[in-house]
Amino acid sequence: MPHIAFIGLGRMGHGMAGRYLEAGFSVAVWNRSRTKAEDLIARGARWAASPADAAEGADAIVTMVADDEASQTVWLGTDGAGRAAKQGALAIECSTVSHQHALDLAKVLQDRGLIYIDSPVTGLPDAAASGKLTLLVGADTADLDKARPFLAPIGSTIRHFGPVGSGTVYKLINNLMGAIHIAGLAEGLAIAEHAGLDMKLVLESIASGVAASPQVLRHAPRMVARDYSGASFTAALRHKDAAYAVRLAEQLLQARPLVGAAAVEAYEKAKAFAPDDDEAKMIELLSQPRDG
Ligand code: NAP
Repeated sequence: MPHIAFIGLGRMGHGMAGRYLEAGFSVAVWNRSRTKAEDLIARGARWAASPADAAEGADAIVTMVADDEASQTVWLGTDGAGRAAKQGALAIECSTVSHQHALDLAKVLQDRGLIYIDSPVTGLPDAAASGKLTLLVGADTADLDKARPFLAPIGSTIRHFGPVGSGTVYKLINNLMGAIHIAGLAEGLAIAEHAGLDMKLVLESIASGVAASPQVLRHAPRMVARDYSGASFTAALRHKDAAYAVRLAEQLLQARPLVGAAAVEAYEKAKAFAPDDDEAKMIELLSQPRDG
């Protein structure tokens, strides 16, 4: 039975860890706060005292935590998984981290004899719980082939972008574009509301017009109804992704990035307003009085 360590049991990671149990893997889990692990333990997962304990003897270690800082802690902290993993184990980072962090982490873990795969994901928590994520992979082809049996329970599609770090590049541009769409939608809807347009007609027109992306289609009715139920992606996480993407743009582009910084600024405000609420709450900002 393949042995997996799963670290980070938030909205996404909890469902992903459950998929390994359903697929018959032997699963050790760790999360900063243990309560999120209780039902997984009841379903047969072993609770690990630390990321290092989880990684002990694992064939693959999968992490799904918030950001660079969390990733650094769970892999390379005092009790980090990277300290205890066996030689040749797969280190699969599914969290959305910065490109530089992915490269630095890969180097350290490869130097310790691990096989590093960056595999950030697209898909919401329901896709995570049903194994239908799209995995955005950066890895050598031979390493990806070794990882495939460990990726199959969580992803229905694998997109292999190239070497380590390339999956993260794609994930960051995907989420930067999403940030721009959602901020643009909030602004457009706020203008329509304040101009007194019939919002039912506005929604119908968006749905049949050319300006709508899947992000816009998903969030438009929620924003108009001010219905943020089923929160899936928080303003804080979207801000982090947009900021990592703009940092990458600053490194790669000769020209100054055009709109990324504006999206980061918008999400900085949304994060200050409601960090752990759904990112669609962005529209509420446009009903606030201007500063200064
Ligand atoms: P979440 O529900 O906020 O969970 C975050 C996880 O990170 C929790 O397990 C949390 O532990 C852990 N964590 C945070 N800071 C930590 C630290 N300093 N040390 C150790 N653990 C720490 O977030 P999520 O929605 O599951 O997202 C997880 C990752 O997936 C993020 O990188 C996100 O950008 C990405 N993602 C999310 C979605 C989505 O729709 N939600 C979609 C695609 C990708 P506690 O439980 O103890 O707080």
